[in-house]
Amino acid sequence: MPLIGVLALQGDFEAHLEMMRELSAPAREVRTAAALQEVDALIIPGGESTTMLRLLHRENLWQELARFGEEKPIFGTCAGAILMASEVSHPQQESFSMMDIAVIRNGYGRQLDSRIVLLHPEPGIEEVLGRDLEAVFIRAPIIQRVGPGVEVLVRYNGDPVLVRHGKHLAASFHPELTTDSRIHDYFVRRVAETLSFASNP
Ligand code: GLN
Repeated sequence: MPLIGVLALQGDFEAHLEMMRELSAPAREVRTAAALQEVDALIIPGGESTTMLRLLHRENLWQELARFGEEKPIFGTCAGAILMASEVSHPQQESFSMMDIAVIRNGYGRQLDSRIVLLHPEPGIEEVLGRDLEAVFIRAPIIQRVGPGVEVLVRYNGDPVLVRHGKHLAASFHPELTTDSRIHDYFVRRVAETLSFASNP
């Protein structure tokens, strides 16, 4: 089983760890470069992306995490997705460019200030994720553009809200804040596949 790290500088990292416990997937908090070295994949939680950005620089984790993302899978939710994007607006902000997506922070405005909606995965992924995903949106970013290598797994009102780019996954909502662990399960299974692929070229 892969060891999943959860970036624990700020935000709702505890909810992700709880999801991992529910799935019986080994996971631990990551606050330092040394801890990052020990995990096989990372979750960047929801929270406040500007604060996380500042803390990542303060803890000298920015470069380490950028390198980590070149080799290992990362799953970002909400603020985490903002940090992984290639383009951030409203306001513009530094990001890792791990996924070819453009996001508008707080893009749904009041409409999705804090709301739970029922989503239906796209046809190709429905058999993997199942139907009727409960999604919690809190000051969520709009994923305004996705690049050619990005697969849209779930949409809300036509906009992508769960996307995959290679080994990375990003959600504009918070799968960690429901009791439904299907998206986390999907990520952990994909990490396991990526790792066994890497060790059996
Ligand atoms: N609006 C926040 C930001 O821009 C993200 C909100 C969230 O993670 N729930 O960082």
